[in-house]
Amino acid sequence: MQPQFYNVINDELRGSKETHRVIDPRTEEELWPCPVATTQDFEDAVAAAQKAFTSWSQTTVAERQALLVKLADVIRDNAEELASILMRETGKSKIVADIDIQAGIAQCLYYSQNALEDEIQHEDATTKVVATHVPLGVVAAICPWNFPLILSNVKVVCALVTGNCVIVKPSPFTPYAVSRWVELSRGVLPPGVFQVLNGGADLGAAMTLHPGIAKISFTGTIGVGKRVLAACAKTLKKVTLELAGNDACIVCADADLDKVVPCVASGGFFNAGQVCVASKRVYVHESIYDEFLARLVREVEAQYAIREDGFAPSVFGPLDNRAQFEVVKGIIEDCKSKGYNIVTGGKTEGVTGKGFWLPPTIVSKPPEDSRLVQEEQFGPVLPILSWSDEDDVIRRSNLANAGLGASVYSSDLAQAERIARRLEAGGVWINQPERPNFAAYFGGMKDSGFGGEMGKQGLLSYVYTKCLHFAK
Ligand code: NAD
Repeated sequence: MQPQFYNVINDELRGSKETHRVIDPRTEEELWPCPVATTQDFEDAVAAAQKAFTSWSQTTVAERQALLVKLADVIRDNAEELASILMRETGKSKIVADIDIQAGIAQCLYYSQNALEDEIQHEDATTKVVATHVPLGVVAAICPWNFPLILSNVKVVCALVTGNCVIVKPSPFTPYAVSRWVELSRGVLPPGVFQVLNGGADLGAAMTLHPGIAKISFTGTIGVGKRVLAACAKTLKKVTLELAGNDACIVCADADLDKVVPCVASGGFFNAGQVCVASKRVYVHESIYDEFLARLVREVEAQYAIREDGFAPSVFGPLDNRAQFEVVKGIIEDCKSKGYNIVTGGKTEGVTGKGFWLPPTIVSKPPEDSRLVQEEQFGPVLPILSWSDEDDVIRRSNLANAGLGASVYSSDLAQAERIARRLEAGGVWINQPERPNFAAYFGGMKDSGFGGEMGKQGLLSYVYTKCLHFAK
């Protein structure tokens, strides 16, 4: 029997006359109907959330944290079903789908132990000032498709633990697992506190304009992020934007290649490069360039390549959707038409019988002003460039769209740290591929974001900080 999916409004399941179907990225088969939320659904969800907020905002942190443990239980108890849905809608292997599920559980548990506390900001003989944190109201979480559960869940749990109500809008490319998860969570929280609405840009745009929504937490592209910020100005909504990155990875002359080459391959090609902080440009010291390139090609061909019979390693997969497939294909075609040196991969047609597959592709020394270097590829094609002067590589790394993550590999920790501190990115990983950590604040500099999330500091974007001034 074909699975059914719903919008969840005030704990009720709602279908819709209008439905939309995702294309399975592995096979190009149409998946299941997903109800597109109507304007009435949207209005009802906002009204339900506003009503629920009155009492939900008065609950204690401890009460809310206990419910996050129950939300984690819901994900854990339904992990197999959620993983199988995720695999179909994203094209991921079970191993990578499980990462999405397990991280979702871990996020709930992390915030069940970590929250904001009141703080004495000043005290003298006459006055004591206590800062306390109050929720904003109704939060809309507008989400992308690359890790559907992790990236929506982090917004949900941060909103909930701080006492907000939350309406999730999954990406229209990956609506199913998130919708099922909200459906399965019914009964854990009071009706209206946690809801899901499905739709595309129209629904997202409506959320950014609605006066009943207090905050937008958005993850996606830079262009859409700018539109979200402009729209939110009209009602002075609080906004967090987690946007694209064009992460530089700097490999120093003394790097231990036995260790570093597998890390760089993973940084660039895990999940076929569809990671916001994937390594997207690799700068290798010229003294080791040839050796590094030869080893990286061997590693990538052994660990990430799609075999002729169509078998792909579990950490690699198709592009999630046709639109992204066309973007990455266009970048590879651009490299070919300009005669850049493609040292492995490069095929854009007939990689497998069906599906949005592209092979892991490495391009040696494309020009610095090429599309592949300047734009976020968000797919399995990686430029390998060379450097010799530290100031110069830092300048080349610090593009406006490269403010999200970066990585540095060196056996000399002082050198690695010196470079890391000069890179203009929200997170820099040293001697490891870029992998976000729940406890660490995560946000992009420059074009890569506005504010940030995760860690205890991330919770501050879900609250007003209010000061109580006591006369002594
Ligand atoms: P996208 O910007 O196309 O869409 C993101 C979401 O915004 C979707 O839910 C979409 O329906 C909605 N949307 C579209 N137009 C809208 C509008 N005008 N107003 C409001 N909402 C609108 O991004 P995507 O293709 O889904 O995601 C991929 C991008 O996300 C990549 O650039 C990637 O780097 C980035 N990303 C960033 C992070 C991070 O934490 N910084 C994490 C994952 C992905």
